[in-house]
Amino acid sequence: MKYTKTPLSHGYANQILTIDLGTGKINPEPLDPQIRDFFIGGRGLGLYLLHKKVNAKTNASDAENPLIFAPGPLGGIPQFPGTSKCMAISLSPLTHIPGVSNFGGHFGAYLKYAGFDALEIIGIAKKNTMLVIDGFINEISITKAPAMDQVFNLEKAIVDQFVKAGHEKKDIVFLTTGIGAANTTYGCINSHYYDAAKPVDGAKGLFRTKQAGRTGLGTVMMHKNIRAIVVLAGYPHGENPYGAADWEKVKQAGTKLHKIVKEVDPQSLKMYRKGSAGLISFMNKEDYQSLPVNNYQYGSHPQAEQICGKTYAERLFDHRGMDGCFPGCNLRCTKGGWVTLASGEHKGQKVWVDGPEYETAAGFGSNLGMWSPEFIMEANWHCDNYGIDTITTAVIMAFLMECYQREYLVKKDTDGFALTWGDEQAALSFIHQIARQGTKLAKVTGVGMIELIDWIAAKYVARTGKPNSRREIEQFAMHTKGLPFSLYRTHRSLSMQASYAAASDIGAHHAAAWLIKVDLLGAFTNFQDRAKALITYPRVRLGNDNLGLCKLPWVDVFNPDSGNRKNTDIYINPASQEIYADFYNGMLGTNMTWEKIFEQTDRDINLQRVMNILVYEKATGRHDWIPDRAIGPTEDRLYETEKDYNDQQLSTILSKPFTEIRKIKTAEKREILMKHRKEELRKLIGVYYAERGWGNNGIPKVETLKQIGLWNFLSDEARTKIAAMNGQLLNKPILAQQL
Ligand code: SF4
Repeated sequence: MKYTKTPLSHGYANQILTIDLGTGKINPEPLDPQIRDFFIGGRGLGLYLLHKKVNAKTNASDAENPLIFAPGPLGGIPQFPGTSKCMAISLSPLTHIPGVSNFGGHFGAYLKYAGFDALEIIGIAKKNTMLVIDGFINEISITKAPAMDQVFNLEKAIVDQFVKAGHEKKDIVFLTTGIGAANTTYGCINSHYYDAAKPVDGAKGLFRTKQAGRTGLGTVMMHKNIRAIVVLAGYPHGENPYGAADWEKVKQAGTKLHKIVKEVDPQSLKMYRKGSAGLISFMNKEDYQSLPVNNYQYGSHPQAEQICGKTYAERLFDHRGMDGCFPGCNLRCTKGGWVTLASGEHKGQKVWVDGPEYETAAGFGSNLGMWSPEFIMEANWHCDNYGIDTITTAVIMAFLMECYQREYLVKKDTDGFALTWGDEQAALSFIHQIARQGTKLAKVTGVGMIELIDWIAAKYVARTGKPNSRREIEQFAMHTKGLPFSLYRTHRSLSMQASYAAASDIGAHHAAAWLIKVDLLGAFTNFQDRAKALITYPRVRLGNDNLGLCKLPWVDVFNPDSGNRKNTDIYINPASQEIYADFYNGMLGTNMTWEKIFEQTDRDINLQRVMNILVYEKATGRHDWIPDRAIGPTEDRLYETEKDYNDQQLSTILSKPFTEIRKIKTAEKREILMKHRKEELRKLIGVYYAERGWGNNGIPKVETLKQIGLWNFLSDEARTKIAAMNGQLLNKPILAQQL
């Protein structure tokens, strides 16, 4: 089907594309300016589109559940570093609440260049389908997908097909997923783009991938029978190619941030060499105890140096070329290298691995008690190739290993198979089994953590005749709202505990409030500071997701000018935020401070909470919690491992000298410590709710939603439910169509 497009204006294409796979209808529609200006783009716009299409009864696998992709108005502008991001949004098959995941590469930018601020896919195709949006000839087609169930075979077939049809590799971007997404609830989506600078076999050029890993959106893609979404497009040209209100201002802002990245990164984190895996050494510090080891039991390990960023930088990453996941990003953290596979049907083959990033390195490394970087890269490759989330896969495997360690599971329960700390071969073999549903254990593991807990508890009761052990197992089953934790051990960061528990509405992920680093560095001295940070950081972080921006040039490059600022939180990097405000104002023609720009994110944060309430209802607040393992030592032996630190904290709590504390029995000390930490967390969550204008049950007050202007955008169902939960009855609901 042919469509029309207009030149970009203020970074917007001003058009949304809806494709119904059930009817075959392709519908490009103007983007309503009222919705655009309120929800901005990316994540915010995607959540609104989702809210419009689903209700409390919709399941992730239902035809009406849309799969949405949305870049933001500042995405795809290479004059500024880090404009690579696009958001994937849908109901999650893993958590059953809205799932959101950002991803890098060129897809979001090309979608916009092709004429769309969002792509929304509803319905279910009858057979394996490939969607093609050709921005050169303004044509959209729904075609048959190549019959491949592994991502890198599919990548080759798609590239061959489009190159044969006369397209240049640089003009082709696409999304794929694989068989693992069909066989689990935590499928990931791969975003493929061409890196023309990377040398390969004496020539140059390689297709590379970034992933939308979290919340199982690859599984939604599979449910809809979509194997690939291809966008063909080129960069806009001309005097003011993205329709900026003030193009000079935009370019100047970009030059400023480029300069800071260029000067600061080589002297600090060295992302351009280590990628995000450089974070391993920081989290592993003796004083921080924040690198998860053996399912978050411990927080540091002497062997962590073997899997840290320096090791990858020196031994495994191929530094030739640019390594930016989008042109203009001089932070260039997208590292990768070659490994020879030691398992699976491709055993012996040398493959290119994009990564590992920090989460994958810690997930398949320290948290499984594995210290081989080659193993981690191989596990990373298989997950990408099968289309499953590395974080979820690795954290569920760590949980299983601890179940074996504590004999909640034994080989007899699992047909002779066991997963144990450090056993690389068993771990690789299990990844293949999960992706293919190879065994009963693998099949239930593919459903998710909550179902796995039930299955293991039932096995344990059947084998031992002991009482139901579910509560014991839950203490170390690392998930919130069904989403397995990302890779931060939070014993020493109350702020991060609250972030995982309550500030992240997709479940235990760090995208909303990654507070652990600033907390460990001593940014917050009191409760109010912590609660405030749970508001201000998500505004910026999720605000970046609305704009189409990568957070790393802000969060990982500390602008030296920020250190000189007075009476403000310098850790939020205010000097760089001002540069981002110039970029925003230059594109959109506004004149706002960075604080005001990011305050707008409260709208979609509240919308997401409202959508969670449609699912959780009165139990909403109960879901804002984390397992005991994320709070402190779950057994006496683990208390002893960090005895000095724990005793010191107890000495403060009980106002007793350290020498007195030493005399108390470990079991008693542990009980007091855990009780105290849980009370602190509960208190912080309460203060956070109050700061947000929510009730003490985690439900937004009607006045709050009205004050931020969201009330009028909510569905009748949502308004009625929220009002009822606030003890009000809506006599005359305002109908959405009356707005
Ligand atoms: S910092 Fe890294 S992930 Fe972010 S845009 Fe640049 S290369 Fe991509």
